[in-house]
Amino acid sequence: MTQLTTTRRRFIQSGLAAVAAGYTAFSRDAVALPPAHDLRVAKIDRVTVKVPYRPVPARNMARELPHWKYSEIFTVHLQSGHQGFGETLLYYTWGATGDRDVDRALGSNAVEIMWDDSLGAGLQMALFDAVARSADVPIHRLFGAQVHDRTPLSWWNIDTSAADMAAECKEAYRQGYMAYKTKGRPWFDIWKQLELSTREVPDDFRIDMDFNDTLLDAKRGLPILKDLEKHPQVDIYETPIPQSDIAGNVEIKNATRVNIAMHYGNPPAVEVIRSKCCDGFIIGGGATRMMSRGAVSAMADMPFWIQLVGTGITAAYSLHFGGALSHSTWPAVNCHQLYEHQLLKRPVKPEKGFVAVPKSAGLGFDIDWDAVERFRVDKPKSRPEPERLLEVSWPDGERLYIANTGRVNFVLDLGRRGEMPFYRRGADTRLVPNDGSDAWRKLYNQARQKPVSKKG
Ligand SMILES: [Mg+2]
Repeated sequence: MTQLTTTRRRFIQSGLAAVAAGYTAFSRDAVALPPAHDLRVAKIDRVTVKVPYRPVPARNMARELPHWKYSEIFTVHLQSGHQGFGETLLYYTWGATGDRDVDRALGSNAVEIMWDDSLGAGLQMALFDAVARSADVPIHRLFGAQVHDRTPLSWWNIDTSAADMAAECKEAYRQGYMAYKTKGRPWFDIWKQLELSTREVPDDFRIDMDFNDTLLDAKRGLPILKDLEKHPQVDIYETPIPQSDIAGNVEIKNATRVNIAMHYGNPPAVEVIRSKCCDGFIIGGGATRMMSRGAVSAMADMPFWIQLVGTGITAAYSLHFGGALSHSTWPAVNCHQLYEHQLLKRPVKPEKGFVAVPKSAGLGFDIDWDAVERFRVDKPKSRPEPERLLEVSWPDGERLYIANTGRVNFVLDLGRRGEMPFYRRGADTRLVPNDGSDAWRKLYNQARQKPVSKKG
């Protein structure tokens, strides 16, 4: 400093003062801030909707997942006047936004809190959308550099009869999808499902099956997996057996041409990468988790699919991760195909399996508020649990009756524990309608205690 002239010293000091003034102007406590730059959260609106399923998902989701119809839409209003939108699928989400999260966000600088995954799905999404709209950039610019112009999307449906699955694959292909993801379950005939479905789509259409552990172990699972891989469309098996069974998963991976996918984190990613027990991951969750797990996948050079589930609002948000994450090259699972309406003015729609990553501000899609109003309901106090009696039947006349127990995966649990007849051809499952009879009530009550088996 001693060598600086007085003039130069004054110049530096005035420069520092200018920087300090600028800093104050951008801090959230500043009063004289131009409105367009005020990022404080002024107000948060919430509305719950119950969006009807399309007919095929309706009759199949009714067995185990009737509650995925409920979604909560968030509107974040910034002090600047900008708004952002998000949603939480209330009973299937990596994190629901609670009242305390909303209280915490009010008055905060949106940029300061938007990476906090603990705020929950709907609020975090709305914060990113509001900030991106105020900066006039698409959300993915807040995630980092854009690495993909377009991103692949998968159609999703729960396990269904073979005829329903074939109809859904046909519909997915008609709507521009090149991938269909569903469940592999011992209570349906998976051979027939694939036989009928693969007739409806070209060879380069992909069908992915999530077994959620129900093949139990490599010894029992492999003969089935080898059978199914004869269809060229079969591309990914997800969690065929418990993910913790590393040796079993290595055996399966080495024995089949089909890719093996695992939910990230179990076993720890470093063990999965070292053991090579799968080909790629399923990654979901908040923005911080998505970006860090996406970076690990890139480091390991392993593909993954993004799994963020909701209506079209969530699907639109998911496209931004697809644009920013280099290894999100397997088709994303957003499940918005389940619903009659995407809640967007312009729906998310792929062409040859891909959707363009949005270029316009925020989500790049506008909410259809007329639709939201149409589906508006009071927020349920807890997850609705309608009475359901299921009948699984086999060609030899054997039947198994299962009733809802209050657990979400009450049927899947039986399959996972091996308490259900293992994959057999001809298996079929239906919901037994409540005809109001004493017989239905008696069987339902019995099945609630323990599955009821009837032979012949
Ligand atoms: Mg899964």
